[in-house]
Amino acid sequence: MKKISKKKTYCTVCPKWEIKIPERCSNTLKAKSKTHYFCTKRCKERYLKAPEKFA
Ligand SMILES: [Zn+2]
Repeated sequence: MKKISKKKTYCTVCPKWEIKIPERCSNTLKAKSKTHYFCTKRCKERYLKAPEKFA
């Protein structure tokens, strides 16, 4: 059984920004149920300052 994820991954802070290769994304944050991806370190910092805004 093949499991192909067709779901695209987007930056949590700027949802228009697609993370093309999540495996290569170095700006990630593991949450309880999912992993957040960020296009830049800045986005990660913004998220960390106010996570509730992007939940
Ligand atoms: Zn971003």
